[in-house]
Amino acid sequence: MQVPAEDRVKIFDTTLRDGEQSPGASMNLEEKVQMAEVLAQLNVDVIECGFPASSEGDFAAVRAIADSVDGPTLAGLSRCRRDDIARTELALRGAKRNRAHIFLATSEIHRTYKLRMNRGEVLQCLRDGLTLARDLFDEVEFSAEDAARTEPDFLAEAVYEAIEAGARVINIPDTVGYAVPHQFGNLIRYLRAKVPNINKAVLSVHCHNDLGLAVANSLAAIEAGARQVECTINGIGERAGNCSLEELVMALKTRRDYYGTDTGINTQNLVYASTMLTRITGLAVSRNKAVVGVNAFAHEAGIHQHGVLMHPSTYEIMRPEDVGRAGNSMVLGKHSGRHAFHYWMEERDIHCTEMQFEEAFNAFKRLCDQKKEPQEHELLAIVRDIVHTAGHTSPVLANVSLRGV
Ligand SMILES: [Zn+2]
Repeated sequence: MQVPAEDRVKIFDTTLRDGEQSPGASMNLEEKVQMAEVLAQLNVDVIECGFPASSEGDFAAVRAIADSVDGPTLAGLSRCRRDDIARTELALRGAKRNRAHIFLATSEIHRTYKLRMNRGEVLQCLRDGLTLARDLFDEVEFSAEDAARTEPDFLAEAVYEAIEAGARVINIPDTVGYAVPHQFGNLIRYLRAKVPNINKAVLSVHCHNDLGLAVANSLAAIEAGARQVECTINGIGERAGNCSLEELVMALKTRRDYYGTDTGINTQNLVYASTMLTRITGLAVSRNKAVVGVNAFAHEAGIHQHGVLMHPSTYEIMRPEDVGRAGNSMVLGKHSGRHAFHYWMEERDIHCTEMQFEEAFNAFKRLCDQKKEPQEHELLAIVRDIVHTAGHTSPVLANVSLRGV
């Protein structure tokens, strides 16, 4: 059953803005446009294209994306200042649907040490900026920077004022990755209960992974009623990164039974999007990364391999094809058993007697004791030694050379 569009979780991708701020992830203009196209194919709801007022390069990249990429709403980050807002509008003028993403810090730490503004001045500043922006953009989003460390009563006041001034998306960022799931979910509940005009806006969250909790905090916020999540491909972003798009999306899809909502993402494109980002930035993902890591659907342990061969649901909660992988992989290694070894031989159309099989399996185990990851050609060479000498003519074995054994 489809989740009604108004109750779906919107995916706001910030790979090109927050993601690009991670050390080693900078992209040039062509690469940003290419990545924006990948995100459009993934069917994200919003692409944050950059921070136009931050540099000439960012301005040009945002403009190039706005002029060429169709589908998602295109957003630009902006400080809550007249000149920044004007620059953002200019960069996004070519977009079919544009959004200003205006941020202003609300926490006491930021008010005191960074902005040097009191509560009243912060509220006045956000009213002025958002009132200006609402006439210039199709959509206006307000981010209360460092919201997770803001006094809840003042945060509620700022959110109320932002909605009154025209913001229709209210983002609650955990800018420094300080929140923990239950508490963060309660903050969202508090705002929904305390802010009288809250129903005029979509609540959004933007979580950082300093404590490894960005996805968990975002899910807790969804449970509490947030309906937009800001995230990045492969979870790249400032410091330890942002909420990982692929993990959040697959958590909602896999556990629809629990969350009762979903996203509009074409999940079959997830591995492709992850691979493209790695190719463009050179930032590799770890093998055991959830959803998109090369080990995410690989099985080596004998008991698991046996189970998956009988029925994938025994040890897989997602289907590899749903995230764009061709299939699961049986990795032959020291933990593999007879079932997997037999399956490996059958897949290669190699047949033999029971005795030959036992001999080959024992040789395979001996090889595994010497090497962490036996290579395909080494495995084939073992089998060839034992099976081929008996007059076997498997086309796979006929081409095996004995080098490297
Ligand atoms: Zn951030």
